[in-house]
Amino acid sequence: MSAKILDGKLVRDQLLAEARVRAAKLPRRPGIAVVLVGHDPASEVYVRNKVKACEEAGIYSEKYTPSADATTEELLALVETLNAKPEIDGILVQMPLPKQIDTARVLMAVSADKDVDGFHPLNVGFLSTMRPGLRPCTPSGVMELLKRYDIPVAGKNAVVVGRSDIVGKPMSMLLLNANATVTVCHSKTANLPEVCRRADILVAAIGRPAMITAEFIGEGATVIDVGMNRTPEELATSTGRKPGSLIGDVHPIDVIERASAFTPVPGGVGPLTIAMLMMNTIQSAELRLGL
Ligand code: NDP
Repeated sequence: MSAKILDGKLVRDQLLAEARVRAAKLPRRPGIAVVLVGHDPASEVYVRNKVKACEEAGIYSEKYTPSADATTEELLALVETLNAKPEIDGILVQMPLPKQIDTARVLMAVSADKDVDGFHPLNVGFLSTMRPGLRPCTPSGVMELLKRYDIPVAGKNAVVVGRSDIVGKPMSMLLLNANATVTVCHSKTANLPEVCRRADILVAAIGRPAMITAEFIGEGATVIDVGMNRTPEELATSTGRKPGSLIGDVHPIDVIERASAFTPVPGGVGPLTIAMLMMNTIQSAELRLGL
């Protein structure tokens, strides 16, 4: 069987083009404020990419860079200022925050209608009760990908490996809301390969390089790989990847042999996350403008 590649870059480009059209229809440019505390190199790259995507999507962006020794109170004050700014529709606090900061308090302080990451408990509640609200970007990107590749979800067995607040849980909820029969797995799940093999749609959000091998993948499944890891030396030969290069949670060779469709790493789920952030910012602007 030859597995179909679900191309996240293609869908990202479609989404950004649509975002541009939607943004241009608004009476003012949608605006996002990005808060980057300190100088974590990975975070700096993410923020740069987000600001670039804003330019492509016609979204106005402001960047705030408190120093690495900022206090929780200073960040809370910044968030309050941004909550009150009318031209800002989305507030994104780049994770992780330095150790001295109370991350939960800072995230809770972001006004729910500007919470473009979809992490605020109010938005989590809206998701679980199927009310309109801002959805976490990575899992909603996965749903968009499935939709655009006409992969049916209703009535299918979906297995999500991982139960984090950022990916696994909201992913499960979105699949459930789309009428899949959902199983959520984690590090204590018994007989994980067997459970995974029953999936029509298998989502891996684990953070373990190439853990999902052939024995986890049912013949003809759709496999979504959220993982972003570095290839360890000992997996380089079996996966055909250079040590240190990007690799997902799914074994890149096994998936081609067993799946009917899959997201590659890189170029699958990754590009969708930022595109959905743009979509969330526009959605937030539309709502705040009463449209
Ligand atoms: P977390 O570490 O928060 O969660 C990992 C989950 O995987 C946990 O629920 C954990 O179970 C489960 N898990 C760990 N080991 C095993 C195991 N051996 N068997 C079964 N389950 C296991 O990670 P995130 O959800 O934040 O991220 C997951 C991956 O997705 C990472 O590689 C991350 O880099 C990537 N990511 C990619 C994004 C993108 O845009 N493409 C965005 C966000 C994340 P338990 O709860 O029991 O500990």
